[in-house]
Amino acid sequence: MNRSKLLLLLIIGAIVGIFLGFDGHKLLTLENLQSHQSAIEQWIDRNLLLAVTGYALIYVAVTALSLPGATIMTLAGGAFFGNLYGLVAVSIASTIGASLAFLVARFLMRDTLRKRYGETVAKMDRGIEKDGAFYLATLRLVPVFPFFLINLAMGLTAMKLRTYALVSWIAMLPGTFVYVNAGTQLGQIQSTDDIFSANLVLSFALLAMFPLMAKFVVGLIRRRKVYAGWQKPEHFDYNLLVIGGGSAGLVSAYIAAAVKAKVALIEKHKMGGDCLNTGCVPSKALIRSARAADTLRHANRYGLESVPVKGSFKSIMNRVRDVIAKVEPHDSPERYRKLGVDCIAGEASFVSPWELEVQHNDGRTERLTARSIIVATGGKPAVPPIPGLQDMHPLTSDNLWDLQEQPERLLVLGGGPIGSELAHAFARLGSQVTQVEKGERLLAKEDPDVSALVLQQFEADGIDVRLKHSAVEFRIEDGEKVAYCEHEGDQVRIPFDQVLVAVGRAANTAGLNLEQIGVDTLPNGTVPVDEDMSLRYPNVFACGDVAGPYQFTHAAAHQAWYAAVNGLFGQFKRFKVDYRVMPWVTFTSPEVARVGLSEAEAKEKGVAYEVTRYGLDDLDRAIAESEDHGFIKVLTPPGKDRILGAVVVGTHAGEILAEFTLAMKHGLGLNKILGTIHPYPTWNESAKYAAGEWRRAHAPEGLLKLLEKLHGWRRGKNTKALRSRYAPDRNPTGPQ
Ligand SMILES: Cc1cc2nc3c(=O)[nH]c(=O)nc-3n(C[C@H](O)[C@H](O)[C@H](O)COP(=O)(O)OP(=O)(O)OC[C@H]3O[C@@H](n4cnc5c(N)ncnc54)[C@H](O)[C@@H]3O)c2cc1C
Repeated sequence: MNRSKLLLLLIIGAIVGIFLGFDGHKLLTLENLQSHQSAIEQWIDRNLLLAVTGYALIYVAVTALSLPGATIMTLAGGAFFGNLYGLVAVSIASTIGASLAFLVARFLMRDTLRKRYGETVAKMDRGIEKDGAFYLATLRLVPVFPFFLINLAMGLTAMKLRTYALVSWIAMLPGTFVYVNAGTQLGQIQSTDDIFSANLVLSFALLAMFPLMAKFVVGLIRRRKVYAGWQKPEHFDYNLLVIGGGSAGLVSAYIAAAVKAKVALIEKHKMGGDCLNTGCVPSKALIRSARAADTLRHANRYGLESVPVKGSFKSIMNRVRDVIAKVEPHDSPERYRKLGVDCIAGEASFVSPWELEVQHNDGRTERLTARSIIVATGGKPAVPPIPGLQDMHPLTSDNLWDLQEQPERLLVLGGGPIGSELAHAFARLGSQVTQVEKGERLLAKEDPDVSALVLQQFEADGIDVRLKHSAVEFRIEDGEKVAYCEHEGDQVRIPFDQVLVAVGRAANTAGLNLEQIGVDTLPNGTVPVDEDMSLRYPNVFACGDVAGPYQFTHAAAHQAWYAAVNGLFGQFKRFKVDYRVMPWVTFTSPEVARVGLSEAEAKEKGVAYEVTRYGLDDLDRAIAESEDHGFIKVLTPPGKDRILGAVVVGTHAGEILAEFTLAMKHGLGLNKILGTIHPYPTWNESAKYAAGEWRRAHAPEGLLKLLEKLHGWRRGKNTKALRSRYAPDRNPTGPQ
């Protein structure tokens, strides 16, 4: 706690101490008020201004410091100043006092809470941002919630002071009036319980329902407004229409068919979308060939003779196509038809929120209606408008797979996951690769130590990585393709044979006719979705790359569940998408696999954390395979084993990560991983050793010293430090 917070806490503590020490709480009682009523009234008659000011200041102090007596003060307001002036004085003073208490709680506690429970606080803040005013009004209207608790609790949220003060002032008015009015009858009141009858509490509870009812009505009006001008069909052809047959669309259609809904999936190009045809599947197939080439090139590591890699690029690409063909049946129209999905080959565009026009690939056009529609049209590689780039006929992840000849000198633009995976694969297959990245590091979303290890391997594999280089122009000079890059004020010339552009992806929205239904795209090109994955209309949804924010197959599938279930059953219950445990893997060598917070993100969000590291150079299996490099880094809250995030950099990182993902998802801490038997010698043992590192760092030192003494005493001599279950031996033959 910093000095100013400590000082404030001391001052508040001192005032509260004095108040209670001098029996202040005993002064503010009903009996006291009643017995001194006439004397106080006479004094007020003579000193009205002073009395009102003093009364208001005391009221502010009592509420700001959460001292007992606010109810009596309110009664006193009515008793001494009457209904009107009493109400004005009390409502203003109570709002100021409540706001001060709110600010004090925020100043003292919010940062600490954010550091400890960053994710939870962030979630709460999102809720408050959306519905905070409603919650507050409800809490204020129901007099069963203690006034001071609301002040303190709201101070811990991100609610704006202005909103807090205004809503509090308005929502407290009815209750204040009741008390002030009761105060005007002070003589008749025997106890504060007399003020609130059961009926009164009930009517207040009903009043408290008002904001919730208002929210419901506002929602209804909003829905009506958004659909205004559209004629809803009386009957629908389908329960669900899905546009796009990639990962997101396939999963949406699958779910709908599984729950016996009538569903059609409209795909204009190839079922399976990017992942199968131009993304995950071909890239991983290419990466496998590249790894095989690397193994041959470095066969001496395994006691064999290293051989120069000879192979035909054509046969490598044929293998890639074979792999696609082998996976294809999983996503084929035949399979989906068998599941009960109507698969339509064509391009869809919106006519209304319930109707699509489908331009069939065979030239026919038809209109189809559905209760709900899902947009799952994915994305495509973005090609920046750099002068001369188009003349280079750039490769992208879309057209790369048609390449017949291996580029001798390949220039890769982009140091993100796609650029890095492909740059590394081509380098290992023998291309001379130059990778240009305008940022300071490769894989900028990962921590700097992760990027550094990947860079080290890239350079070892001969990639010429140019960081802080921005491609500004492309030219053909003497028949040779040349890129010009800006680098710290200098111009750098890079000759090449082929350029591969991997600088980001753009959502596919063109041709959907989204303008027709008034849906705008966000500045990054994706469509704006709500937490239930709906677009502007509660029956129109989007998922996958077209919606973002993640661009992974598993993220698309995850979102698709929400879009499909909310699309089919949203009238009864809507589920909000949950991204808390979203893992991903970049398939470079070393692989980079992450789930949850990185160190940089934890710092940015103000989440307190500590780091546990385990070097994969220590792992027997990694050593046996001559792959003993990389590390595991786990973030936990200080002193706790709960996993905030984990990154694995090394061979099989994606597989090792699964254990941390499962643990995070189900709230299992590192102690649970440590207490689980892992077969020897596996890559996954590394997760257990990382957990062991955490345990070792949190060993109870005092207890260990005592144990050491005890064992020494039992042997009759001193001994060296012991290993105990608190510092588990990584020897797998030891006790698990
Ligand atoms: C090189 C590369 C490697 C990748 N590697 C991985 C990886 O290892 N792991 C991972 O998780 N992710 C990876 N991804 C990302 C992954 O491929 C995408 O996140 C995923 O494919 C998104 O699925 P989607 O359904 O949103 O879109 P898509 O798969 O793009 O599917 C959208 C479909 O909609 C169709 N369509 C568009 N407009 C219309 C229309 N108007 N009417 C009818 N049909 C339409 C398109 O033809 C397309 O088939 C990779 C991507 C690339 C490019």
